[in-house]
Amino acid sequence: MSDAKRPATSLGWFDAEDAPARADLRSCIHCGLCLAACPTYRTLRLEPGSPRGRVYLMRGLSESRIEPSHPLLEHLDQCLGCRACETACPAGVPYGRLLEVSRGQFERRARERSHARRLGQWALTRLVPDRAAMHRAADLMRLMQNPAFEAFMRSRAARALLPDFAVRGWRMIPPLLPRRERALERLATALPPGARMEARADALVFHPAGVAKARTAFFTSCVMEVMFPRIDQQAVRLLVLAGCEVTVPRGQCCCGALQAHAGMRRLAKDLARANVRAFDPGNYDFVVNDSAGCGAALRGSGELLRDDPLAGPAARFAARVRDIAEALDQVGLPAPVVALRSARDPDRPLRVGYHDPCHLAHAQRVRVEPRALLRRLPGVELVDLPNSDWCCGSAGVYDLTHPAMSDAQLAQKVDAIAAIAPEVVVASNPGCAMHMARGAAERGLDVRIVHLVELLARAYPPPACG
Ligand code: SF4
Ligand code: SF4
Repeated sequence: MSDAKRPATSLGWFDAEDAPARADLRSCIHCGLCLAACPTYRTLRLEPGSPRGRVYLMRGLSESRIEPSHPLLEHLDQCLGCRACETACPAGVPYGRLLEVSRGQFERRARERSHARRLGQWALTRLVPDRAAMHRAADLMRLMQNPAFEAFMRSRAARALLPDFAVRGWRMIPPLLPRRERALERLATALPPGARMEARADALVFHPAGVAKARTAFFTSCVMEVMFPRIDQQAVRLLVLAGCEVTVPRGQCCCGALQAHAGMRRLAKDLARANVRAFDPGNYDFVVNDSAGCGAALRGSGELLRDDPLAGPAARFAARVRDIAEALDQVGLPAPVVALRSARDPDRPLRVGYHDPCHLAHAQRVRVEPRALLRRLPGVELVDLPNSDWCCGSAGVYDLTHPAMSDAQLAQKVDAIAAIAPEVVVASNPGCAMHMARGAAERGLDVRIVHLVELLARAYPPPACG
C-alpha cells in the first residue's frame, strides 16, 4: 500500500519539512480550464491524470483522507512538470510548487527504491553537480562515439543487453567536441573588434568594445557546457556584441533543476545556495542563461530558499535571471550583418518553425522576445509550430523514465513539425532539442533542431568567418 513512512502531523500525511501550503492546495476552484492544456490528460482522459485531479490528490494527502498508494504516486509521477496548467489556470494555482514539494516528501521518505531509481539518484548526486566529472563523462562518451560502438547501440544485441533508458539516452546525445574546444576561453579569438577577454582567478570576464551598456553574468549550465559548448560560446559572443560586459563566475555550479524535479530538494537547495553565493557579490544587471530548464530553476531560487538564511540574496539573484533572448532583446543587438537563406534553395528565405520550451513559455513566461529577435533577422520566414507550447515529452529525464507517455507527446510534436515543413526548428532548451531531433530523425523529416543563438550567430559571423 504505502511505500513511505507515515508521520502523524497536522499536515495530514505530509511532514513539516517543505510541506505544500494549505492556501496553495485550496486555491483550485475545480473549473477544469487546465484539462485541455495538460498533456497527460489529453493522452489518458483520466481525472487523476489531470492537474485538477493531482491537486485534489495532494489535498487529500494533506487532509489525511488518503494515503500515498502506488496508483496515487503513479499519477503524480506521470506528470511531466511542464506547467502548462499554470498558464491555463485562472485561479493562479502554483502547480509547479505544489508538485515539487510533494515529490520532495515522497522521495525523502520513500522506503524502497528500484535499481534504476538508485542509479538516477547517483547520477543526480555525484555526476551532474560535479563539473569535472561531467567533462570526464563527456570525454568517455566522445571516445564511444565511433562507428563500431554506434552500430552496436543500434543493434538488437544492445536492446537485449542494455536497459531501455540507456539505448534511448544514447540515441539523443549530440556529437561531442574535444575538451579543449568546449572551453569558453576559445572565444578570445572570435570576439567583436575592440572587445577583450580577461581571465581572473574567480571568473572569466568579457569586456565589450567601448562603455558597457549592461553588466551581466553568464550561467553556463552543465549540460550546455559539455554537450552544446558552441551555443554557450555564441551566447557570450552575442552578449558582448550587444555591448554587455559578461562575467562568468568560476564558482557557479549545476542549477539543481533535475534534482528538484526528482524530489531531491535538499540537494537542490545546496546547489541554489552555491549559485547565489557565486553570483550575488557581482551586483549584475542580469544573470543570463541559454537553457530554458536551468533558467526556470535559477528564477525559482528565491522561492526554493525562502526560509533560508540566504533568502534575501536568493530573491535578489532570482529577480535578475534572464533568458538569453530577453537579455539580447532588452540590451539590443546591432543590425544583422548577413541575411539567412534556405540551404535547399538560396533564392528562398529560411523557413523557421518555433517551438516554445515549457520552462521558457510556461515557467518563465518568455514568448515574445525570441520571436522578436528571429523576426529581425533578414531572410527568415518565421512560423509557429501548431500548438507550439505543448510539451515535446522531454521534460528533464522523463523521456527515459516514462518512454511511452513521452513518445506520445513527441509524436504530436513531430506531427506539428511535419505540418508546417520548416527547414529548421528553434527549440532553446537542450532536452527539447535532443528529444525532438531524435523524433524527427526517426520520422525521416529533413529538418534541423537548433537553438535560437545558433541562428542569431549566423547573422553575426565572428571576425574570423566574416
Ligand atoms: S505540469 Fe503539465 S503534465 Fe503536469 S499536470 Fe500540469 S499540465 Fe499536466
Ligand atoms: S484551471 Fe486551476 S483552478 Fe481550474 S481546475 Fe485547473 S488547477 Fe484548478
